[in-house]
Amino acid sequence: MAVYCPRCGTFNRGQGQACITCLGPVSKGQSVPEDAKCATHANNSPLGRCMVCGKATCFDCGSMVDGQILCFTDAAAAATTTAETATGTPKDKKGFSFGKKK
Ligand SMILES: [Zn+2]
Ligand SMILES: [Zn+2]
Ligand SMILES: [Zn+2]
Repeated sequence: MAVYCPRCGTFNRGQGQACITCLGPVSKGQSVPEDAKCATHANNSPLGRCMVCGKATCFDCGSMVDGQILCFTDAAAAATTTAETATGTPKDKKGFSFGKKK
């Protein structure tokens, strides 16, 4: 039996007591068959379970964001939020340097 870490969503294979990613206890995690597959890619073993929607994701369709497994969709949504915040500053800088033409 394998288990999804309740804290970060990582797929922990075997009977380990601590999550391989966050080292937290996985005893209360959702147990899944050891041969579980990604919800999107039937040939891939899951990287973990999306902490937002609960979908099993693999390396191809999931990623680690802030220490938690997110599916591609939810990771993109999180990245968009971050990018919007990040692009606000460079835009201002561009405005400042605009007049300094060599
Ligand atoms: Zn974990
Ligand atoms: Zn998701
Ligand atoms: Zn996948």
